[in-house]
Amino acid sequence: MLNKAVFVDRDGTIVKDVVYCSNPDDLDFLPTVLDGIKLLNSVGIRLIVVTNQSGVARGIFTEETLGKIHKKMLAGIISQGGQVDAIYYCPHHPDEKCHCRKPNIGMLEQAAQDWGLDLKSSYFIGDKFLDMEAANKAGCKAILVPSESSRNWRYPRPHWI
Ligand SMILES: [Mg+2]
Repeated sequence: MLNKAVFVDRDGTIVKDVVYCSNPDDLDFLPTVLDGIKLLNSVGIRLIVVTNQSGVARGIFTEETLGKIHKKMLAGIISQGGQVDAIYYCPHHPDEKCHCRKPNIGMLEQAAQDWGLDLKSSYFIGDKFLDMEAANKAGCKAILVPSESSRNWRYPRPHWI
């Protein structure tokens, strides 16, 4: 049987959205997120982070630095008793038109394959239009969290939000 998962965006959803965060010291968890992660863990649902990190392709930070940032984020989650199953990131530039950069769903498809997930019974929590669009394309239930990005959307919103 396929499992469900909760896909979670990183910047603006788990941690504060720092433009091209390139330093582990800039990581700052958003309020209530660590408790929310533990709550999701307690119901036995997989938790998978999916994040666009074009700062790699733009030469702003290396994948090694990104790895350090993610290591620190995971350590912060674990220290509070939470757990994330995996982090998928897209390092490409938008101009590369890759299949993994949200709103495309390459990362979701890869995770579904790696973890035996049913995307249609999974959830996607994010703070941007592109997260909701990826969720919709993949058939996941989309959950929008308030952030600067979601507040600044221009109407009309798509019918499925
Ligand atoms: Mg975000």
